[in-house]
Amino acid sequence: MASGKINVSVENIFPLIKKFLYSDHEIFLRELISNATDATTKLKHLCNIGEAKVEYGEPKIEVRIDKDKKTIHIQDQGLGMTAEEVEKYINQVAFSGAEEFLNKYKDSAKDAGIIGHFGLGFYSSFMVAHQVEIITKSYKDEPACRWVCDGSPEYTLEAHDRQERGTEIILHIAEDSEEFLEEYRIRELLKKYNKFMPIPIKFGTREETTTVGEGEEAKEEKTVVDDIINNPNPAWTKPPTELSDEDYKNFYHELYPTQFEQPLFNIHLNVDYPFNLTGILYFPKLSNDLQLQKDKIQLYQNQVYVTDNVEGIVPEFLTMLKGVIDSPDIPLNVSRSYLQSDGNVKKISNYITKKVSEKLKQLFKDNREDFEKKWNDIKIVLEYGMLSEAKFYEKATEFFLYPTVKGNYHTWDELKEKIAPIQTDKEGKLIILYASHKDAQHAYIQHAEEKGYEVLLLDSPIISHLIQKLESEHEKISFVRVDAGPIDTLIKKTEEMASVLSDDEKNQLKTILENHIPKETYTVQMEAMDSAQPPLLITRPEFMRRMKEMSMHGGGMFGMGNMPDMYNVVVNTNHELSARILKNENEEEQTNLIKQAVDLAKLSQNLLQGEELTAFVKRSYQQLVH
Ligand code: ADP
Ligand code: MG
Repeated sequence: MASGKINVSVENIFPLIKKFLYSDHEIFLRELISNATDATTKLKHLCNIGEAKVEYGEPKIEVRIDKDKKTIHIQDQGLGMTAEEVEKYINQVAFSGAEEFLNKYKDSAKDAGIIGHFGLGFYSSFMVAHQVEIITKSYKDEPACRWVCDGSPEYTLEAHDRQERGTEIILHIAEDSEEFLEEYRIRELLKKYNKFMPIPIKFGTREETTTVGEGEEAKEEKTVVDDIINNPNPAWTKPPTELSDEDYKNFYHELYPTQFEQPLFNIHLNVDYPFNLTGILYFPKLSNDLQLQKDKIQLYQNQVYVTDNVEGIVPEFLTMLKGVIDSPDIPLNVSRSYLQSDGNVKKISNYITKKVSEKLKQLFKDNREDFEKKWNDIKIVLEYGMLSEAKFYEKATEFFLYPTVKGNYHTWDELKEKIAPIQTDKEGKLIILYASHKDAQHAYIQHAEEKGYEVLLLDSPIISHLIQKLESEHEKISFVRVDAGPIDTLIKKTEEMASVLSDDEKNQLKTILENHIPKETYTVQMEAMDSAQPPLLITRPEFMRRMKEMSMHGGGMFGMGNMPDMYNVVVNTNHELSARILKNENEEEQTNLIKQAVDLAKLSQNLLQGEELTAFVKRSYQQLVH
């Protein structure tokens, strides 16, 4: 029996590992299974090149819990280690650098700035075990050996009579880690980290029911089979040509077993130069509550799950997507801020953006009708992308759609072409009319449509930001919401209308109305419009509404906390009612006319509520019986 000292510069790695990796101590299993997988793939390679003259067979990795002995066993049928190799690979760990590394990064590690692990690999088993045993038999013709260590630098290494090739790691679970002796806990970890690893992983057995015999003879038979945790050949590792739509959908549900919605479409990522990356991204149907999304993009390295926090790797606007990314080229033992400045990672992020825009363009070109159908579910991602990624903005111009309230979809160029002849104002500016809600702004939409104008339906929460951006990119274009003013003043095409009322009369009427309309919220404005327009119209100037919206969504942009709601009451001085109010000498009747007219205008803008609405209804009934 040999004994010696592990070549580490720290006296006791046990407390060190526990302390710094505590929040992540469940990764021990991922590390050990990764090692078992490596050992198996290495053997396969040696067999292939003829260096190992053994039967490769159908090796699997087995995980077993012994509750009585309080041990977890991880056993593989890989290449194993000779005693010499154990000395070399396990004892001479490049551990001298570990203390330095931990010292260097301990600040970022504290606030979870460091993702994953430190590459401590095998030694992470001491996070959960007070003692670790390795029993291993090399594929070479040499006896097996047994290594035991309790986390202190002392270990023992002796010969063992094991005959089967491979390695068994036995963890003697520490008292504070006994949760890992629970079957459900280990199953959960295997499902989380190892679901798509390349070598089959067995965890216990299960019963399988099969039908044997035929016709009347047929009977059900129960057999006990290995419970294999993983799918060693997940879809993203296959070439896209081998996969059908159905395969992609199935993989989506394999990835997110609790997700019942179907994805809208997928993007297969596959690149090996200048970096290595594979994966499948899915565009999901986005629920309105973006915060509540628990199924996120998962990051893998060589089919080992790493994290579902892909911030910094995937462009922010695409973090709303789902799917997997597998890349060994993403440095993980670094802080997030470092990650964002890493050249490779930047390239990866740009590549993903490019692939996504190419796919969108292709979908738009191949089947525009279908693309339009999906528009509502994807637009928010695209809008966000146009706002946050200059490159994406450029590309998206080709396929970004502007839906109308009537249900047509225009590209930017189509839209411009369509409205240029009718919606250009005197200064040559193109006026794009839009509504944010079909029903709430119905009256205003109708006024615009009666004039033959095209009205867009733009209803995303971030649309005001996108509009702002589009306006700053295109000089001679203005977006105006339909209720921003009387339709004729929004598109100043016509000459001023002749007014039926004289200037004196207008001023008189204005004063009368102002006595009945609260100044803090409403500004009375006189306007000569054609008599088909309503007598009173409540509008909200475009810039006012936009500032308010942006201060709300932009987290106090411009330093304005709570902007008050301000509206205009536009009076059509050419409408018959204007003259009637002005000429009425019975004060009570006049007041009633004004109240009724103002309430109707408010009603059209969804502003009549509560007490005011009740009073209006009451007054209206009274007028029916008088
Ligand atoms: P890494 O996997 O990054 O090399 P580890 O600390 O996880 O670091 O493992 C150290 C070394 O021990 C491995 O490189 C390998 O040579 C050896 N080893 C660990 N586990 C096994 C195993 N199950 N079978 C064969 N060799 C192993
Ligand atoms: Mg390892």
